[in-house]
Amino acid sequence: MSLPTEYSNLGFDPDALRNKYREERDKRLRDDANDQYVEVSGDFGYFVDDPYVEREEREPMDKEMHVLIIGGGFGGLMSGARFHEAGIKDVHFIEAGGDFGGTWYWNRYPGAQCDIESYCYLPLLEELDYMPKEKYSFAPEIYEHSQRIAEAYNLYENAIFQTKVTEMRWQEEDARWLVTTDRGDSLRPKYVVMSTGPLNRPKLPAISGIDEYKGHTFHTSRWDYEYTGGDHSGGLTNLADKRVAVIGTGATTIQAVPFVGKHAKELFVFQRTPSSVDERGNKPTDKEWAKTLKPGWQRERRENFNDMVIGRPVKEDMVKDGWTEIFRKLASMVPRDPAKKVTPEQAAEMAELADFQKMNGIRDRVDSLVSEEDTAEALKPWYRQFCKRPTFNDDYLPTFNLPNVTLVDTSETKGVERITAEGIETGGKSYKVDCIIFATGFEVGTAYTRRSGFEIYGQGGQSLTEYWADGLRTLHGFSSHGFPNCFQVGFSQNGFSVNLTSVLDDQAQHVAYLINEIDERGARYAQPSEEAEAEWVATIRRMAVANTAFFEACTPGYYNNEGYVSANRGLGAESYAPGANAFNKLLAEWRDDGELPGLELEKAPRPK
Ligand code: NDP
Repeated sequence: MSLPTEYSNLGFDPDALRNKYREERDKRLRDDANDQYVEVSGDFGYFVDDPYVEREEREPMDKEMHVLIIGGGFGGLMSGARFHEAGIKDVHFIEAGGDFGGTWYWNRYPGAQCDIESYCYLPLLEELDYMPKEKYSFAPEIYEHSQRIAEAYNLYENAIFQTKVTEMRWQEEDARWLVTTDRGDSLRPKYVVMSTGPLNRPKLPAISGIDEYKGHTFHTSRWDYEYTGGDHSGGLTNLADKRVAVIGTGATTIQAVPFVGKHAKELFVFQRTPSSVDERGNKPTDKEWAKTLKPGWQRERRENFNDMVIGRPVKEDMVKDGWTEIFRKLASMVPRDPAKKVTPEQAAEMAELADFQKMNGIRDRVDSLVSEEDTAEALKPWYRQFCKRPTFNDDYLPTFNLPNVTLVDTSETKGVERITAEGIETGGKSYKVDCIIFATGFEVGTAYTRRSGFEIYGQGGQSLTEYWADGLRTLHGFSSHGFPNCFQVGFSQNGFSVNLTSVLDDQAQHVAYLINEIDERGARYAQPSEEAEAEWVATIRRMAVANTAFFEACTPGYYNNEGYVSANRGLGAESYAPGANAFNKLLAEWRDDGELPGLELEKAPRPK
């Protein structure tokens, strides 16, 4: 049943937009999908060296411990904090960087800022009595907050920094994991918590000639301030005599480019797909408002945001920003009169119309901020808002009005064609540059080892890569059959929210419960039964059908497995479609059952 006539007067032609979106998607679809990227290892390994701290030498460790958390970003920090509260002792950390912070340790590029409102994003604000300085925090404040958490919960005590896991192997006789590292350590925890992050390993495009370039080069997640000069707040004065290329126009570039454009002699931004760039409108925290907040306010606010961004009805939009606007538009289309029933098909059509309206606004914004017509046209995104990570910035688009800044549209050739010793050749032109900055993102849809950097061998020596070859297989996203006492926190068949830290916090609390229950029941280890795991996978896939259809129509990117989304591939296909709040409710009911349904506990004594 199509929508009533009042919806046909919106001032645009939905069919024309649908066709345009499809055309722009098809133009970018590449046969090589994820294989268009190369791993940053071997000859490219230097791209991930830590530019922030000196390497400290130390003796290898040989140690048993109760819990080992792999990764010191917000997933690890929240696990550490919640385990501490739950009385779990002997918790160790292992982290490749020189401190806690994860993505905020690595990403120090100029202008780095969190797009999610700070009052939702920075965890433990009430517990630590901290109020962010602004509605949207800049990276240094977030990095400092991660250290505040580590200090408050005593997490530095057992933290092993500058160390990478090389392998994890299950030892059935001891019912422990043997975790080995690039420092020669042998760590033997009873439990492992994997918090290696969804966007942890930088990736590079496999552009022909990439290894021939003789100029300077780095990835945005390892910003080279020694080369550019300045710091996070700008002042990149060493670029004054440099011709610079930036490849990629995702969320990172949107924030960094205004600073590079301001200082470089010349800047070429190589774009394949434009980002949607909405208004930022940051503002300092209103101290009077902060005083009015009642205990429990942060959970209430982040749950409100989680519901808003999945389109669930709420009484009030507390955050009121560019993330939630589309759903406010949608809410205004739904008839107030409860007698006027809306079918699921009509609801989907209304959501699409609200999306068209929102994206028309984003495209109009380009026209209002960019003076040169062809450049403005090339900067307009033609896809639904959540096909790609929406971005928010007030300085990015006007940067293209500067005389030293050029946008190079590479959409017709599906990306940059060739890198030479001196620069970039694409679209029949060559660009000699002193420096190429790769803003080309992180490994998402690739094999498990490629994303984490190491392999996990479970019972019978089976590798997790093998076990997940046809897609993730977990119970509630936390654990897999054959990989006992190993818990994943992050995105793996659980409730998704763009506010990652809230998801990680809730997961950490559930894993704390699991560890305590397994210990209190005197079990050596626990793992999901094959049946429970299969049932959960089927639930995820069944509920992901609408998401899969949505992402299938999207322009390629890491949200949709580079355009090859299917029942078991792509971010959208692997999350619990009803969202983070519904997932938390499901977990709470599961805990209330008291019998750990679907988990098999191994209580047998150690074999002699
Ligand atoms: P992305 O993966 O979002 O962007 C990579 C960019 O590289 C894309 O524009 C991609 O184009 C482009 N690209 C890849 N290969 C080529 C090629 N051969 N030629 C030309 N262009 C190419 O990485 P980001 O680092 O920007 O962001 C990653 C994620 O990190 C974000 O999505 C977000 O989740 C997070 N982030 C969050 C921030 C926040 O505010 N909280 C800030 C910054 C990042 P195409 O789109 O066509 O594939």
